[in-house]
Amino acid sequence: MSKDLPGMTLENIVAACDGEYVGDAKKLKESITGAVIDSRKIKEDNLFVAIRGERVDGHDFANQVLKDGALAVLAERDLPDCKGPYIKVASTALAFQKIAAFYRTQLECPIVGVTGSVGKTSTKEMIATVLSEKYEVQKTAGNYNNELGVPLTLFTISPKYEVAVVEMGISDFEEMDRLARMAQPDIMVITNIGTCHLDHLKDRDGVLKAKTECFAHMQPRGVAVLNGDDDKLITQKMVNGIPPIFYGKEFEACDGSFKEIYATDIQNLGFEGMTATIHTPAGPFEIRTHIPGEHNIYNAMAATAIALRMGLTREEIARGIEKARTIEGRTNFIHANGYIVIDDCYNANPMSMKSAIRTLSHASGRSIAVLGDMGELGEDAYALHQEVGQCVAQERIDALFATGTLAKAYAEAASENADCEIFYEPQKADMINKLLDYVREGDSILIKASHFMEFGEIVERLTNR
Ligand code: ATP
Ligand code: MG
Repeated sequence: MSKDLPGMTLENIVAACDGEYVGDAKKLKESITGAVIDSRKIKEDNLFVAIRGERVDGHDFANQVLKDGALAVLAERDLPDCKGPYIKVASTALAFQKIAAFYRTQLECPIVGVTGSVGKTSTKEMIATVLSEKYEVQKTAGNYNNELGVPLTLFTISPKYEVAVVEMGISDFEEMDRLARMAQPDIMVITNIGTCHLDHLKDRDGVLKAKTECFAHMQPRGVAVLNGDDDKLITQKMVNGIPPIFYGKEFEACDGSFKEIYATDIQNLGFEGMTATIHTPAGPFEIRTHIPGEHNIYNAMAATAIALRMGLTREEIARGIEKARTIEGRTNFIHANGYIVIDDCYNANPMSMKSAIRTLSHASGRSIAVLGDMGELGEDAYALHQEVGQCVAQERIDALFATGTLAKAYAEAASENADCEIFYEPQKADMINKLLDYVREGDSILIKASHFMEFGEIVERLTNR
């Protein structure tokens, strides 16, 4: 079978990005098999998109990738030493987006877009696992959810796929507009409107405005799937003239309206996961997820809404939900040296911090929270860190280790619970030493902070000793 992407001749690509073609005109009729930005990942007849990075400039690899089999290079400057084929444009990043948007129009495969402040990757994985019970599914690899990640993902949707789940992440206004213009989703999930990226988006209304920019680029009969327990999302009663599918706990939403998909009998099995009954217009069904944390019931409900719409039975959906597993860095349980390390160091914000602390509270031995700063919280940052500290106290966590600047607020607020042993060290290295002395067999240790705190090191130190 040809690996060519439908409609993606160089001729069409040049037209889609309004570029200037340099090279052998005969090649214009040939088609690309994919698009990459990393010269080491070039495969036969790929389009190489040259991006000027901070350390490396993709343009320096133009000749190399053509030798390695690339069909053409997309470049934003003249390449005097290169005979081509190359396509010259003003901005390779923007041209790449235009080409991706064009490719999307050549695809028959429905696309499920996933955005929200927290839980995009987890929800994307849950949706993809469930839909795999019936379809050939493509999904965003890892966390490739930004203005380069989304077009890269779109180019991995070859005609063999029957549905694709595309994660879309933003930090400023107008970014979602560009992402959705490319993905043109048939179904759009928004997991929640939280307090991330307030530096640009100011407040939750700003977050709502930015996230919902996606609605303008949905397919004509496209439907939104929204968390109905989110006070901002529940205000979105019509999306392009079509009522969204709301999901959440309990039938009635906070504003007195009703949800189409809702969960009851939610049981937290602690580290073993969750069970619940999910109610749908097709009737109720029982689910069991092995992923700990109550938020996974929400992710399961989002997956249910989409899967039902795509014709899966409740049995298939339940089977898919049960198959889903935790992902590295996101409430991932590692058994090592007689204790359990809960690796949640990929990222953090107030919502996911509290959720992880609640999961930790189910520990059978001592519960230890190792927490670092959360970034990008704007002017309320200190108070938001205090809230997390209060959660540590309320959930009766046995010990708190904190490091960072704002993390001092965790320590202050956690002292509400006099039984909680609290260790605050401004320097991470000092905290790690104290922690390594403190832990013993039977402990459960949650490791969580924003990405820049590089808490992966702590997971390493605890598991490889
Ligand atoms: P990023 O913006 O970095 O791409 P993300 O939105 O993809 O993040 P995940 O990586 O899925 O989010 O999860 C981040 C954290 O939030 C993890 O600790 C995860 O366990 C937790 N989480 C997952 N789903 C939800 C949810 N629906 N609500 C709240 N927290 C969640
Ligand atoms: Mg993600």
